[in-house]
Amino acid sequence: MCGIIGYIGKNKAQPILLDGLKRMEYRGYDSAGISVMHKDKIVTLKSVGKILNLENKINNSRLNSHQKLNFQQGKIGLAHTRWATHGEPSEKNAHPQKDCSGNIFIVHNGIIENYQELKKQLIKKGHLFRSDTDTEVIAHLIEEFNKKENFKTAVLKTLNSIKGTYGLAIINKKEPDKIIAARLGSPLLLGLGDKEYIIASDPAAIIRQTNKVIYLKDGEIAIIKNNDYEIISLKNKFTQHKIHQIDWTEDKIEKQGYDHFMLKEIFEQPKTIKDAIRGRLIVKDGNAKLGGLENVAHQLKTIEKIIIISCGTSYYAGLVGEYMLEEYADIPVEVEYASEFRYRKPILDSRTIVLAI
Ligand code: GLU
Repeated sequence: MCGIIGYIGKNKAQPILLDGLKRMEYRGYDSAGISVMHKDKIVTLKSVGKILNLENKINNSRLNSHQKLNFQQGKIGLAHTRWATHGEPSEKNAHPQKDCSGNIFIVHNGIIENYQELKKQLIKKGHLFRSDTDTEVIAHLIEEFNKKENFKTAVLKTLNSIKGTYGLAIINKKEPDKIIAARLGSPLLLGLGDKEYIIASDPAAIIRQTNKVIYLKDGEIAIIKNNDYEIISLKNKFTQHKIHQIDWTEDKIEKQGYDHFMLKEIFEQPKTIKDAIRGRLIVKDGNAKLGGLENVAHQLKTIEKIIIISCGTSYYAGLVGEYMLEEYADIPVEVEYASEFRYRKPILDSRTIVLAI
């Protein structure tokens, strides 16, 4: 699962954000990005693949001297590891996503279900979209409301207009003293440091800075400044919250309190499955939406055989897939070791699909 981190406080944001991303690396992702704000300037860098690629980009970036200075000096910023649901893994689709004017930057985990209709309305109003993500719609909607309302009200109105799931964090050049974060169906916690705050989707990203955290609840919004924060509901009412003390060590936090990664993974299975199908099952239509397969849907209709190739744990996952596909799709499935398959001369025709895990 993808990760979010945001920092505001007395220290330079960039190293803290990068370190936070590395600590969430174990979650899996396909691309990463970081935005740092200094005064009213925001500098963003993104890359596909490993955090190391982003780090190399930061170290060897072609930023001009002003941008470099802003990026190094800024004490507020956002970073993200993405697991694409809408749009391929690419720099343009990596987060932070921004609005037309380049004032509003957002990182988001989750899925906006009504993004297509919102996007159509926003395009009619003249908004220019630059990515294929559902996330970008949030930035433009805030921009639209922000024409008349302040940042906080614009975010509230936006969150009341979108349907779906989110953990998100936003910065806005027009109000450069704050991060606004919100949660609905995707975890988010606020770390309370000494004159600094960190918002993150995973305690692992926070623990170096502080062990005092507030777990945001679904429907809560945090407005975070560098010396103060407030937490409100979607109806703009203050909400009660408890400050928790995390007493795990850095090593243990990545294991979320379990003694071994294996135990953690076993106990995480229900959540992992839920996350994997989130936004992809359309329960009311009794159907599934698998974005990556839409372009080849017509070819899939003629399939007579599926070969799954994989190794190790994914081989076992493939076997589970075999049972399910045969039972539900009624199509014969073979599961093969990828390491053997590459040396074979299998009989493959236009009605066979190969699924490589
Ligand atoms: N739906 C968003 C996207 O595809 C967020 C994906 C995520 O949770 O990383 O960009």
